[in-house]
Amino acid sequence: MTKTTEQWINEHPLIQDMVELKETQWFNPGVTTLEEALPFVGLNQDDINDASARLVRFAPFIKTMFPETESSNGIIESPVRAVPAMQSVIENRYSVKLPGQLLLKLDSQLPISGSIKARGGIYEVLKHAETLAINAGLLTEQDDYAKLTTDEFRQFFSQYSVAVGSTGNLGLSIGIMSARLGFKASVHMSADARQWKKDMLRAHGVEVVEYESDYSIAVEEGRRQAESDPTCYFVDDENSTNLFLGYAVAAKRLRKQLDEMEVVVDKDHPLFVYLPCGVGGGPGGVAFGLKMAFGDNVHCIFAEPTHSPCMMLGVYTGLHDEISVQDFGIDNITAADGLAVGRASGFVGKAMERLLDGYFTVTDEEMYCLLALMNRHENIRLEPSALAGVPGIARVLSEEEGYKARMDFSEDQLNNAIHIAWATGGNMVPMEEMRSYIRKGRDYLAVEMAH
Ligand SMILES: *Cc1c(COP(=O)(O)O)cnc(C)c1O
Repeated sequence: MTKTTEQWINEHPLIQDMVELKETQWFNPGVTTLEEALPFVGLNQDDINDASARLVRFAPFIKTMFPETESSNGIIESPVRAVPAMQSVIENRYSVKLPGQLLLKLDSQLPISGSIKARGGIYEVLKHAETLAINAGLLTEQDDYAKLTTDEFRQFFSQYSVAVGSTGNLGLSIGIMSARLGFKASVHMSADARQWKKDMLRAHGVEVVEYESDYSIAVEEGRRQAESDPTCYFVDDENSTNLFLGYAVAAKRLRKQLDEMEVVVDKDHPLFVYLPCGVGGGPGGVAFGLKMAFGDNVHCIFAEPTHSPCMMLGVYTGLHDEISVQDFGIDNITAADGLAVGRASGFVGKAMERLLDGYFTVTDEEMYCLLALMNRHENIRLEPSALAGVPGIARVLSEEEGYKARMDFSEDQLNNAIHIAWATGGNMVPMEEMRSYIRKGRDYLAVEMAH
């Protein structure tokens, strides 16, 4: 940092809130239309279609390997549903009228790894496997990919390894899929990764390398070890366009789901989507897909923990990955372990900044309270990270920074709006752990009641 913290705060006053770990929000005045922003992304609809087609080719393999995908014919997808009870709970909780409809996108229920990482992480491993097999003359795109379940392919893939640095969920997705294909897999995990995730990976035959430090160091070490081994493929969470495109495929499928629910998205019925953000690949990729699917009628907003507001800080200062929350003394310690990232992806921030309407932060206590409320009122169990987007609807509708005015939303548009909180994970959390999450949320709620 060339300037002092004080200089930074003078020029960028919201940094003060971030440093004080206060919940805050920023609606970027620099957003543009999709048309203007697209050249800066460097990817297009053909790239998303290519990723989508690849996942269709792999569907017979996935269906055979993972019987839980039988009913969806090997397509890894999650439901979306209305949460009217939760909508009125948060209306009361934040004392704000919430017109429009709140939906929840339940990536917590994605098959195989129970989080949004089942989109990007699994996609990247499949793409790598396909490339190796095609280059070796063992596979063509016209083949039935169910053949990848045979011993011949397992033998072939066992000559190669896959490595990744992860806070947990990415490691789970990549580790499980790599191991099932026959790859040697190693996951470099930061100190905040949960024990049960390490245990589960080891049970799948994945090598888990543990670090005392945070996520960035685990990634760096993983990358370094992979560089010295030409048979090792490193999944780079900070810069991977493959991950990004795997996430982006979600959007077209969501549009189909909304069509089936007869939920209309157009100029008169704008769509707001609230995406929990860690390093940025997941929410960035989904947001890119959403923009390609719904154009300027969709408004994407990222949610981060107050202890790890890396994307908001990076875009707000314009420094992207050249700055970390730790540079301002923010500790990057949060119960939202999928979001515990101190330095955002430079690729995602630079590619997507013109397409993201805003950013907001949420305290850990609030995520726990929402977790308990979601369990009580909707009978939906989520991990803390997955709740970060839930306050989004209230943040947008109550904001007084001038965002709604600048966007020129009419009362009718806001009455007709659809709000989707992306519930990014939860189903893999062991029962005991989930009970303790819920207990913690209830305890916080009880303290609130007492005041
Ligand atoms: C990883 C993760 C995210 C955010 O994805 P990034 O690509 O790190 O931004 C959100 N929620 C959960 C549960 C996650 O595991």
